[in-house]
This record gives sequence, C-alpha cells and structure tokens, in this order.
Amino acid sequence: MSASFDADFVAQVQAASEQNLALCYQCGNCTAGCPYTFAYDIPVNQIMRLVQAGQKHKTLTCKSLWLCATCESCTTRCPNDIDVARIMDVLRHMARCEGHAPERAVKVFWDSFLESVRKHGRVFEAGLLAKYVARTGRVWTDFDLAPRIIPKGKLALKPHPIQGLGEMEKIFKRFEEQGGCL
Ligand code: SF4
Ligand code: SF4
Repeated sequence: MSASFDADFVAQVQAASEQNLALCYQCGNCTAGCPYTFAYDIPVNQIMRLVQAGQKHKTLTCKSLWLCATCESCTTRCPNDIDVARIMDVLRHMARCEGHAPERAVKVFWDSFLESVRKHGRVFEAGLLAKYVARTGRVWTDFDLAPRIIPKGKLALKPHPIQGLGEMEKIFKRFEEQGGCL
C-alpha cells in the first residue's frame, strides 16, 4: 500500500532543484536513455512519478539514487526541459541527510572522497582507496588497474595538499552551518 501524499516533500524537491515536477508526463525518454536502467531498482521516470505522488519514503530508500552517474542523459532527452539529473542529485542528498543509503559501498566511497578533499584540498587517491577498502572490506576492487596506473603517475602515494587549505575548510564549514549534511 502506498503512503499518503507528502506535499512538503514535493515542495522541498521542487525548491531545491528549481524544477517544475508537474511538467513530467511520463513519456519515459529519460529511462530510455539512462545507462544505468539495467541496474536500478526503480527506473528514473518512475522516480519522477513517485516524487509527483509525494511518496517520500519509497523515493528516498531506493537504490537507484546511489547508482546514478549524473551523466545528464535524462536531462538532455527530456522533451519538457526538466533537469532530471539535478532532481536525482537533490533526492540523493535528501536521502543522505535522512540516513538512507541502501548502496553502502557507494556512500562509503563518497564519504572517503569528501574527507580526502577536506583534508588535502584535493583527492589523495591512495588514501581514499585505503579508507574505502578498510571500511568495505573490498580489497580487490580495481586491484587489476594498479600496474597500469602507478607507472603513469596516476596514483600518488603521498598526499599533495593545496595551498590555502584553510579556505577549503571554510567552504565545508559554511556548508554545514547552512544545514548541509556531509
Ligand atoms: S543522470 Fe542518472 S538518472 Fe539520469 S541518465 Fe544519467 S545515470 Fe540515469
Ligand atoms: S523525459 Fe521528462 S517528461 Fe519524460 S518521463 Fe522523463 S522527466 Fe518525465
């Protein structure tokens, strides 16, 4: 049985994404062009419909939000110029803030990425990888790529912090003070 219509949820998504959800008439073009439809538990056009119907819990707990690659194919294909990828971003952030992350490994990767940027001002790949592996136990993830990328200098073994790290910290602090959740 579906939950009752959550008008606040619809208003929040519309305000944060600056998109008019009512324009979606379920043509399915976004789903037809989405490269991750094969992996989604709910196709992107159905996510749009769930949001229109104010189905907050079902929307924010779906795996698709965490598998979206933000490729913007959906946005490009929408005949009503709805920025669907932006809506997916907004929903993922809402899900994160409310503690829903059914694809844990993806969230762990994001957490590790953000921590690395906050600490060094840019990504320190080896550190990110170490954190990801320690938190997920996925020791062999992309292991086969190491012999190819290390000789090309694509995987720095020491961090190279940016100048002005304090400015980076200010950005993160300001985001948190404005109610953003990391
Ligand atoms: S942005 Fe996400 S939902 Fe849209 S087409 Fe790309 S992967 Fe699919
Ligand atoms: S392409 Fe646009 S109008 Fe069509 S289903 Fe997707 S969001 Fe709705």
